[in-house]
Amino acid sequence: MSAANLNQVEIDWKPDKKDVTPVYKQIVEYVSAKISSGDWAVGQKLPSQRKLAELFSVNRSTVVNAIDELISYGILASDFGGGTFIESNTWGVLFSTPPDWGSYVAKGNFHANFETTQRINALCTNDEYIQLGSGELDPDLFPKDASKRIMTRLADQLSSLRYLEPLGLLELRRELAERLQKTGIDAKPSNILITSGGLQALHLISLAILQRGSVVYTEMPSYINSLQVFQSAGVHLMEIPMDQAGIRYDQIRGRKKVPENHSSLIYTIPNHHSPTGITMSEERRNAFFTFCQKERLPVIEDDAYGELWFDNPPPKSLKARDKSGMVLYIGTVSKSLAPGLRIGWLVGPESVVTRLGDVKMQSDYGASTIAQWTVYEFLRSGEYDAHLSRLRKQLKERRDVMLQALSDHFSDLAEWNTPQGGFYIWLTLKKKIPSDTLFNLALDEKILLSPGNLYSDGFGSAWRLSFSYANDKEIKEGIQRFAEIVRTY
Ligand code: PMP
Repeated sequence: MSAANLNQVEIDWKPDKKDVTPVYKQIVEYVSAKISSGDWAVGQKLPSQRKLAELFSVNRSTVVNAIDELISYGILASDFGGGTFIESNTWGVLFSTPPDWGSYVAKGNFHANFETTQRINALCTNDEYIQLGSGELDPDLFPKDASKRIMTRLADQLSSLRYLEPLGLLELRRELAERLQKTGIDAKPSNILITSGGLQALHLISLAILQRGSVVYTEMPSYINSLQVFQSAGVHLMEIPMDQAGIRYDQIRGRKKVPENHSSLIYTIPNHHSPTGITMSEERRNAFFTFCQKERLPVIEDDAYGELWFDNPPPKSLKARDKSGMVLYIGTVSKSLAPGLRIGWLVGPESVVTRLGDVKMQSDYGASTIAQWTVYEFLRSGEYDAHLSRLRKQLKERRDVMLQALSDHFSDLAEWNTPQGGFYIWLTLKKKIPSDTLFNLALDEKILLSPGNLYSDGFGSAWRLSFSYANDKEIKEGIQRFAEIVRTY
């Protein structure tokens, strides 16, 4: 899937039908104002006429009149496919010309999200859709009462909300260190950097310890491929196949050599992997870790889902096997508690953690102070642990509902796995249906899906199904409708 550079404009406005100005004229003025203010950039596309009529709640002929007028001014132009886009430079006579922000944005270093990811991001908060691809918990699984108790307590206790030390709230780091010790990870508070979500830890690594031309090996498929965080830093992602026991690290040998003086790393999600749901086996962990030690290949271990096991905890983390500081371990409360807190952490040698903390201070002066206190209170008070043991049961129940719905409706259409934790079932269709087509057909049915090729190009027939957001009824209904779409295609 290619990265989107300039996408479609966003429209959240309707003409006022009671206004004396004709409706088509209001549309002309609205579009002109969006362009002259620089909100909409040259080269961006407008939705189809049908869609515009829907968005503006007007007849299609009104839209046609408005577009014709804007085209006659040279503000808009038609493309060969019958769409309309914002034309450049020919309309300065009408307005003072804003900078060509479109070309600035296109030249920026950070890559845009994939077009599909942008659409998913725009629709994932829309309740009209059944969320079958979401990487988020159902809001009904949020511990509202505990949160209220904690927030009330904090409101009484906090006398200021200052910047915090570069590594983050000491109380929170102490609490995390204690918990990590219990899982076999030998971390002191000085080995922990609090980040704005696990994602920021990855971003900081890309900024501070990798260079253009560095290589990050990663599972194929992987969550990391659905982002541009490493690619934007000029870092190459090199995909390594997986099997049911985890990454086939043995296939790294003989792959493209990293240029001299460039760092390389391996990024892995050993527990309840996104998107496949696979958990790396004990044997694979041992062999993989030995391999990385021998090859002097440092590891980023992303443990976003590690606490969300259903029956038995997963094998010991790679970090717990690490005596020489070669693993950078990432945790987060986004999957287990609330992504909106934006709290994650990176555990590693002091030299790395201090440096990343310094870069973080230069980026945002630290993660939200109130969010750090909130997470600390959740952990300290025992509310987090109580929530977690409820959540594991709830997620397992939803997994089972989805597995049942799959065997009811997809038995002859697809294959899938049974995850032992986390959020996802990895579904591989037997029929070849272009994933964009299926994604759009599902959208028409008000189902939001996560296509496999977001996580690796070769997985066009796979889908990351998530049982974390939709409730039982939605899971049953969504899976049934999804199967009908596949069957009738
Ligand atoms: N790692 C993995 C594997 C994830 O799925 C996610 C969330 N999609 C993250 C990291 C980042 O989450 P956050 O920044 O919200 O902690």
